Parts: sequence; C-alpha cells; structure tokens
Amino acid sequence: MSASSSQPGILPNPNVSALPVYHAGMNIDLARRLSGHDTIAALASNENPYGCSPRVMEALGSSSFNPSRYSDAACTELRNELSRFLDHPADAIVIGNGSEEMVAAISRAFLVPGACALTVTPSFGLHEIEPLAAGARVKKVPMTPDMRFDIEALEAALAEAPALFFLPAPSNPVGAALTGDELARLVAATRPQTLFVLDEAYFEFMDEGLADGMSLLRNGDLSTVVLRTFSKAYGLAGLRVGYAACSNPEIARIIAAAKTPFNVNAAAQIAAVAALADQAWMKNAVERTKSERARVAKELTGLGVFVAPSHTNFLFFKIDLQSSRTAEELLSDGIIVKGWREAGYETWVRVTIGTAEENDRFLASLRRILGMTGEK
Ligand SMILES: *Cc1c(COP(=O)(O)O)cnc(C)c1O
Repeated sequence: MSASSSQPGILPNPNVSALPVYHAGMNIDLARRLSGHDTIAALASNENPYGCSPRVMEALGSSSFNPSRYSDAACTELRNELSRFLDHPADAIVIGNGSEEMVAAISRAFLVPGACALTVTPSFGLHEIEPLAAGARVKKVPMTPDMRFDIEALEAALAEAPALFFLPAPSNPVGAALTGDELARLVAATRPQTLFVLDEAYFEFMDEGLADGMSLLRNGDLSTVVLRTFSKAYGLAGLRVGYAACSNPEIARIIAAAKTPFNVNAAAQIAAVAALADQAWMKNAVERTKSERARVAKELTGLGVFVAPSHTNFLFFKIDLQSSRTAEELLSDGIIVKGWREAGYETWVRVTIGTAEENDRFLASLRRILGMTGEK
C-alpha cells in the first residue's frame, strides 16, 4: 500500500485523483543528460523557434515592469489592446495564465458533476482532463481516417446537447483546420444548451480562406468562446498568457469568477501588450514556419511517410514503429518530439516545425530510423 493511500482522514476528490496525466514535452536539460548531445532540437511543445519580438525584452527591461507590485487583476491595458485588435468589447474578454487556464476555468464554470463535455480524438489532453476534473463525462469523436474533422459525427453528438464543446481548430495534434462551411454546419447543429468553445491556439498559422473564429462570437443565437494564446505565434510560452473572447460579457464574468484573481503576472501582461503591438515580427516568424512546414511535409511524403495536412506549427505523421520507440530513437540524436499515446494513435508522432537546421537534423534522424524499420 502506498503512503498516500494509507493516510487516515484525508479524502481526495475522486475525480481529481483519477485524472489521466498530461504528458508535457521533455525538459531540455533532461534531454541533454539522456542523449549526451549538448544542442537539443526541442520539437515537442510547439514553441516558436525564433524566440519573441525584441520589443518584449525592451518592455520587460523598462520601468513599466515593477515586480514588487501586484499585477493588474483586471489586465486592463492588455484587454483594451485586444479589444481594439479583435474589434470585440473588452468586457467580453478574459485573460488567462495561458489559454490552458481558460480551459480549466471554463470547465469549472460550466460543468456540474455528471454533465457531458464533447471534444475530438486524437485530442489536446486538457480538453479531456479539465472536464473530468469537474466531474463531467467526456465524449470524444474520432477524426476521419484521412485526418479531417468528422463533421457528420460531430453534428450527431451536438444534437445530444452536451454542456460544453471543446473544438481545437486548427487541431492539436492533427493540424486540420475547418472550412467556413464546416464551421457553419457545426454551428447549425449546436443547441442553445451547449457552450461552443473554439480553441484557436494555432489560428495565426492557418492558410487564408478558412473558418474565422471571431465570426462565431457574432452569432447572436449561441453561447460561444474563442481561445487564443501568446505561447505559439508570439513566442511567449514561458510567460503564460492567453485569452478567452466570449460572445457576451456575462459569459466572461462567469469565466473570470472561476479563475484566481492575480492569475496573469505583471511580466506576462507587459510582454503580451508589446508582442501584440509588433505584428510584423509575429507575421515574419509565422511565414518562416509555414515555409519550413511545407518543406518538411514534402520531405516526409517523399520518404513514404503519411503526414496529416497541417495548418499549425507542427506536423502529425505515422510510421511503422511504436511512437514511444520513434521518440526514443530521435532523442538519442538529441531531438525531442511527442510520440502520441492515445489508443489507436500509438504509431503517430507530433513534431514541431523548428529552424531549418533543426528540421534538417530531425529529417536526417528519421531517415536513419526508417532504415531501421525496413530491416526488421
Ligand atoms: C498550445 C495550446 C494551447 C495553449 O496553451 P497556453 O496555455 O496558452 O500556453 C491551448 N490549446 C491548444 C490546443 C494548444 O495546443
């Protein structure tokens, strides 16, 4: 018997003690020790390989950053800047300690024990973990075999009026985006009892002409939230800042009630304002990533590897080897990726698009591994 289970008296929340583990990408120092390589290509966490705008570091070095004062609990300046940027009312925007905190706050705010939450599979772990923590059941609709959203199956699931619908589009880990028509069909299938949450963490990496999440918020008949983040395109993953844009201020008020008061620290608020103001830096980083994404996808296809079409800063691909083995082999060459573990996807791997040099290293290592799978 373990020490914790033999502790008399304490009674953990069974929903929380039974939660599946969130698999974070491997820490770089650990990867150095395990692989013996000094230079690690960190391609597991969808971070920005180009860093962040130099204006962010300038702002953090200026007198406007004062670590001794509590941060603005209302995130006033950042919300006002986002309001202007998105053309959306500031009182309908909630800032989170990463958008992942908004996933947690939304689950806490809109799910009661026994309620149903709907999402897709393969999935972003927290879209399942946070509803489970709130005592909800989670229904997951698989992607189609060619790795698109299964719109018909989602329409059928939405007809059952789940309390929450977490839709990551573009999808993590698959990379698929929604067309405007597909989003319109999902909206038409959504009942008024469902809060439709569109997680657009990779919005900036999408090609033109696909579904525009902000249009969802202007659909007056539904309760909707769009989640976005500064972690990916803006390169602020370490500072933890994202946001929930809500279809009305009452939804924002309820989400804000479910978070801690000083959830977004002072450095994060200042950095996000500076990053948002430097759209040119962000767009340049995104363009470089998109062109590398096309190159790496083409190389992988040339190697006979099945790659899902991606509108993100990563690729999801499948080879004839357990993903844990593939990840181990890549790690031995100093490359960190995410070997997928969900049932049915154990031979799929998610690799972040890095710098051209990192991507070349990844491709060379994968060629070696593919040679190995042919030999067996
Ligand atoms: C990376 C990611 C997030 C963002 O996480 P942050 O907490 O903002 O760093 C949210 N949703 C999905 C689907 C993601 O992949």
